[in-house]
Amino acid sequence: MLFSRTRLVLGLQPRFVLAPRANSIRSALVAHRLISNSSCSHAQHQHDHRQTLEHLSSKIDERHSHNAHILPAEVDAQGNELNPYRHGPSALDKAVHLFFFTEIIRGMWIVLENFFRPPYTIMYPFEKGPLSPRFRGEHALRRYPTGEERCIACKLCEAICPAQAITIESEARLDGSRKTTKYDIDMTKCIYCGFCQEACPVDAIVETQNQEFSVENREELLYNKEKLLANGDRAEAEIAANLHSDHVYR
Ligand code: SF4
Ligand code: SF4
Repeated sequence: MLFSRTRLVLGLQPRFVLAPRANSIRSALVAHRLISNSSCSHAQHQHDHRQTLEHLSSKIDERHSHNAHILPAEVDAQGNELNPYRHGPSALDKAVHLFFFTEIIRGMWIVLENFFRPPYTIMYPFEKGPLSPRFRGEHALRRYPTGEERCIACKLCEAICPAQAITIESEARLDGSRKTTKYDIDMTKCIYCGFCQEACPVDAIVETQNQEFSVENREELLYNKEKLLANGDRAEAEIAANLHSDHVYR
């Protein structure tokens, strides 16, 4: 008693330290008791004590609200859940599933469902899947309905081709316009990017939807102007329909 009075006269106050998180509740209670038993003559110290008490009370409330949904036996000293699988299936559930082969029955049910579904595969080449109007296949040169070649030998397609697969030679017509005397595409170089079709101002060079043009040697893949015009004549109706369906997006 004498010692505590001496400390009070000297202005020494009992000190408390916040314990780690695990013992925060107990420490808070001890601190509260110590603060309650101590007498402080200084107004500032009283104010500090009040603030500390409020802080500790809020910490206690926070801890209670945090652990409200967890049973005390389910958490360790740090407040972590001891059994993270406590909300999973019980051992009895697992045993029932194992005993009655429920997983095998579910798997067999999926097999049965797919047995009566229409097949996802097709009998190619007798059946063919749908192709987009923008599909980029074999090249073709187009004509106007009068039979005149569309190409005006501007060479934009030759310039833009990243594979340098197009070779064009041209000459002037009698009316002063230009026409190609040579229009070659090396299909072994082509990467089917479609840039030539996009660059052409008169829709002369196009890529058709024909993807079945395999050959037996490389020379057959060196297309000349006659070959390209023949491709265009053969697929003109399909090419025109595809360009029309796509024109709203251009
Ligand atoms: S599709 Fe591309 S790579 Fe092929 S010829 Fe046209 S621009 Fe060249
Ligand atoms: S096909 Fe088109 S882009 Fe190429 S030279 Fe003829 S008009 Fe020009």
